[in-house]
Parts: sequence; C-alpha cells; structure tokens
Amino acid sequence: MVEQSTCNALVWGSIPHSGSTKNNYTEVIVLSKLSEIVHYFKINGLDTPTKVVSESLRVSKRHVRRVRAKLSNGEIKSPRILVLDIETLPMEVLVWGLYEQRIPAENTIKNWSILCWQAKWLYDSKFYGRYVTGKQAINREDKSILFELHDLLNEADIIIAFNGKRFDLRKIKTRFILNDLKPTSPYKVLDPIITARQQFSFSSNSLDALAKQLDVQRKSHTEYKLWYDSAVYGDEKSIKYLFNYCRQDVLVLEDVYTKLRPWMNHINLGLYVETDELICPACMNRNLELKGFYYTNVNKYQAFQCKKCGAIGRRRIAEKIDKPTLVSTAK
Ligand SMILES: [Zn+2]
Repeated sequence: MVEQSTCNALVWGSIPHSGSTKNNYTEVIVLSKLSEIVHYFKINGLDTPTKVVSESLRVSKRHVRRVRAKLSNGEIKSPRILVLDIETLPMEVLVWGLYEQRIPAENTIKNWSILCWQAKWLYDSKFYGRYVTGKQAINREDKSILFELHDLLNEADIIIAFNGKRFDLRKIKTRFILNDLKPTSPYKVLDPIITARQQFSFSSNSLDALAKQLDVQRKSHTEYKLWYDSAVYGDEKSIKYLFNYCRQDVLVLEDVYTKLRPWMNHINLGLYVETDELICPACMNRNLELKGFYYTNVNKYQAFQCKKCGAIGRRRIAEKIDKPTLVSTAK
C-alpha cells in the first residue's frame, strides 16, 4: 500500500493503495482465548495434554478441558477471523510525459504483482507471510507465494483488511486467476476504512493517520525508494524491509479494528456459534447489560451493550406490543 502525503490546503491527489454452550455455561470465554485454544488444538491435535495448552496460552486447565470437550462433540464452531495485508509491486510503463497522462494498456512493460503478504488469526500471536525473491520481483512473478495465502483464505470465515474490499482482496483474486488458482471458500470482509468513512469525520482515513488519532501503535517508516529498488533491481534488503513493514501494518490494523469495533456495522458473530445465550455480536462476550430499546416502524426490541467491547446489539425477537391499533406508514 502506498501512502500519500497531504497538508492543509494542498492535496497531492489520491493514489489508490493500496458450541453449543449450555445455559449453565457461565464462564465467559472471550473471543481471543476461545479462538486461540481452538486454533492451538487445530494445529497440535485434540490429544495435546491439557497442561501443555494451559501453560502455552496462559489459560486455566478447566477452560482448556471445556473447549476440548466441546470441540470433540462438535459443539463449538468458532468463526475464523483473519487479519491480512499485502504489498504490491508497481507496473512499468512507457509514458510520453509525467502529468495527466492517459496511458494505453499496450504501453505496459511489466504488470503489477504481489510483493509480499502477512496475516494472522485475530488476537493470535503467530504470523503467516511470504515474500518474493529479487528475481521474482523483477519478473513480477508471485505464484510461489500465493498457495499458502490461498489456503488461509479457504480457512477464513471473515477477513479484516484495511481498504480490503477495494484493494487487497481484488488484487489477490486477480493474481489467483492469472496464476490458475481456483476461487476460495466464501468469506466476509470487515473493512475498518468503511467504518471510518461512514461513522466519523477524521481528518484523514489512512491507516497511519487513524492509528495516530486513535492512539494505537504506529506504522513503521517507508519511502518510495524501497518499492523502486524492489521492483527495478530486485533488491532483497528492500523486499525484506517491506515484508517486515507489512507485518507491522497487520498489528496496527488489528489495533485500529479493535478500537473501531464497537462502532462498526459488525458481521454478527452470533451466527457463527451455536449457543442459546445472548452474546455480543462483535466480540462474542456474554457479559451484556440492558440498554433501552431499539425501535423500528412497527416493532421494538430489547437493546444491549457489551461490557467488554462496548458494541450495541439487540434481540432478534421483538418485544410483545399490546397495541392492536398500531398502524404504519405504507411505503
Ligand atoms: Zn463485545
């Protein structure tokens, strides 16, 4: 993703960059821990000793045993949420000038390709990522780094990506089809830039600016030369630097997402778990407090606020309204 500089009055233009838990199950399993335990078992097997899991993840043994029991009888279905970022290499084209050019497609010398990608399961510490070699960068070849990404997208139910709907996932799918990879299983995208644009009026909605305004950890520094040296000379030091920068972006994205989460029109995580309890639609926490009512034109619903993340949710079933005379505007 290429950042752009802006100042008070001058804008340099917009560069497109980039289980069923029973009712008596009172213990609160927050998404982070549940996801981590499920993930740990998935990688290491359900027969991993309780003590090992408990010590590795710093969770109680009771907690681990409960999750194992529910996983083995198919009661837990936790959504797999992937935090993802990619860096791309620019195109090389022949141009007749530097300003306001309309460049015909046949002037392309080299197409764009993916330089690297980094991903992690939400709130998990393990990173996944690949980057191309210097020679592959010069030739805009990225097939070798796409397979593992393809596998991760197949596993994910939800993908968190900054400007991901417009940029990252379109870029990824383009490289998939150009490299003869098949479509991945369906997933949904949570894009914090959409929340930033729709719900707020931040002076800038770039990831770096949001991180600064929301006071979360910051991106590392990059300069255009790194992309230039990667794309033109295949400079492996620059590629590695950008790969690490991409990892830092994933951490910043996770923090920005967490901060914006209660304000988001969030995908209802309640749909991904089988439980009869009320849970927060954004973080799956069970600790909710009543928060008035939510009204539509003909119904009213009990509203809740999550005590952990602050998201507001409402019951799916309307309150009983004894008003047989209630009419609605016919539209
Ligand atoms: Zn919540």
